[in-house]
Amino acid sequence: MTAANDCLFCKIAARTIAVDAVFEDDEFLAFRDLNPQAPVHILLIPKRHYATVMDMDDRAIMGRALEAVQQTAIKLGLDEEGFRTVLNCRDNGGQTVYHVHFHILGGRFMQRPPG
Ligand code: 5GP
Ligand code: ZN
Repeated sequence: MTAANDCLFCKIAARTIAVDAVFEDDEFLAFRDLNPQAPVHILLIPKRHYATVMDMDDRAIMGRALEAVQQTAIKLGLDEEGFRTVLNCRDNGGQTVYHVHFHILGGRFMQRPPG
């Protein structure tokens, strides 16, 4: 695991900061968002630090990240009714925490257009 100093989600990945984890394997951790925007609002992070999706340079981990989204959705029972995955990148994307993370939102119908 590569950790960045003073990164909130690296601390969460290392469990220095406690979170309500819903899925974990060697490379990923999924936990409930502090400020949920839907009945189910999960953040899925790689334990390794990448500031944004544009910094992800390993195709294999990118593929495994989507597998982890699938596994998290199944574990939370979102796979049948569906869910929305959001990945905010940098300023215009509205990214506030610079450790890449997928939002997984479910438990209600998602309006469109997103954003
Ligand atoms: P972004 O805006 O970067 O895409 O999303 C960051 C998300 O992290 C926000 O939805 C925010 O509520 C969540 N968040 C920020 N700090 C914490 C924290 O300490 N714990 C948890 N569980 N979520 C956090
Ligand atoms: Zn980090």
